[in-house]
Amino acid sequence: MLFCPAVPMEYAHEEYLGRPSCPKCGKLCILPEATAHDGEHVIEHVWLCDSCGNEFRTAVRVASFPNPSAHTSRKDSEMAKKAKRASRRVWTSQDVRELKRHSRAKSPVAVIAKLLKRTAGAIRQKALHLDLPIGHRR
Ligand SMILES: [Zn+2]
Repeated sequence: MLFCPAVPMEYAHEEYLGRPSCPKCGKLCILPEATAHDGEHVIEHVWLCDSCGNEFRTAVRVASFPNPSAHTSRKDSEMAKKAKRASRRVWTSQDVRELKRHSRAKSPVAVIAKLLKRTAGAIRQKALHLDLPIGHRR
């Protein structure tokens, strides 16, 4: 069976049920003879012109969903945020003892942060909370 050179580009923008004209005689076709899915987002229609008997195909993209990769990346960043929150470490009493020791020793915040494997900001926050003087500059 010979098909007309495909028409897809011309009709690709049309709706699922968009009606093409016969590429041979120009008559408007009403109903496709057959419909087939080509991949996930392309629907292919086979048309039979009832005026000249010409058979031809159109392909319609039905991918009208939001960009799936954009959706994925948004989800990923949300997951990253969650992971970051979850990774916040609880202060153990040993950590607090260590912090108090450094407070007395006037260790620089950067040094304490490194020793306790926390950020300088976390050290300052905790010291503020415990009402501890912290760092070598006070
Ligand atoms: Zn025709």
